[in-house]
Amino acid sequence: MPHLLIVEDEPTTSWALAEGLSDDGYTIDTFRTAEDAQRWLRRGTSDLVITDLRLPGISGLEFATKLARGRHAQPVILVSAYSVDDQTEALDAAGVVAVFSKPFQIDALRRSVRGALDAPATRRAPARRAA
Ligand code: CA
Repeated sequence: MPHLLIVEDEPTTSWALAEGLSDDGYTIDTFRTAEDAQRWLRRGTSDLVITDLRLPGISGLEFATKLARGRHAQPVILVSAYSVDDQTEALDAAGVVAVFSKPFQIDALRRSVRGALDAPATRRAPARRAA
């Protein structure tokens, strides 16, 4: 069963993500900060990360960049209330496969998660698209 990490400091959005994805049978852990998720990853492994961009500590993009450079490299889906259109290179380098603007459609996000988990690792990066 794929294991998803959700990193989001807004409780309602975190709940909406976890609730919306729970029907797809994933194992889900939620964190309020990227630092909390990093701590968890010292002992655990996950298959995909969904992270908010603006977090209380390091940003979702910084977190994704660290993941991409380490042994926990995995597809990342970014949710953001802010445009990241000018950060294409950083997003690709960080393994960000999709960016969703808030408010997002949970069904579109579910499809994106499914697609990212199904895609061979080498084809993940070019699949990034705005939604
Ligand atoms: Ca936030």
